[in-house]
Amino acid sequence: LCLGLVPHYIALTLEQLRIVKETLELRVAERTKALQLANEQLELAANTDILTGLLNRRAFLNRFKYESDRANRTQNPYSIAILDLDHFKNINDNFGHQAGDEVLLAFSQIMISHLRTTDIACRWGGEEFLILFPDTNQAEANIPLTRIREFTEVSEDLSDETSVKLTVSIGVSDSIVSGADSIIDHADKALYAAKAAGRNTIC
Ligand code: GH3
Ligand code: MG
Ligand code: MG
Repeated sequence: LCLGLVPHYIALTLEQLRIVKETLELRVAERTKALQLANEQLELAANTDILTGLLNRRAFLNRFKYESDRANRTQNPYSIAILDLDHFKNINDNFGHQAGDEVLLAFSQIMISHLRTTDIACRWGGEEFLILFPDTNQAEANIPLTRIREFTEVSEDLSDETSVKLTVSIGVSDSIVSGADSIIDHADKALYAAKAAGRNTIC
């Protein structure tokens, strides 16, 4: 009788093992998916500015390296613009930090709404933003930059504080004038000139 039951027990044990194996495989797949999701979220957080949702400086510099290498190959020009909000400290001082944050978010949306999807914008830090225009020379970059400057000047609903007024100064340079190593520096110097020229202007 015992010997007769052995194949039955073996079949039962194999079936149990199959079920355990399947359950474990399912769990591993679930964990792997959760881990992938967590990694994606982590990467997004590491590359994104939390207030505006734009790329942060680190992510931008990675894209800049990629785009300048690509431009080197294609010999197409590209432009870099630095945008700095004028007298932004006054907004914080007069309306509070929360209103300042709302203005930063509103400005980043104005900026994005005037760019092509291939343009790359980032929050460089504080109230400064950088835009890389691939395959675009300085004269061509001036067109959306002028729209951003003008639109910012006339915008009224930048925060819940209705009397907030905002202007932006912009420095721009292209890869024909500046090499990859100095283009950001040149745009920064142009921004300084825009501030010195009275602000709310593009140099
Ligand atoms: P300028 O026209 O010369 O650029 O003057 P400014 O007042 O814009 O420049 P300044 O560098 O004196 O001040 C920048 C201000 O931006 C000071 C800082 O508190 C504010 N700021 C930087 N980051 C943030 C932020 O995330 N939120 C808010 N609300 N304010 C910020
Ligand atoms: Mg600044
Ligand atoms: Mg400023």
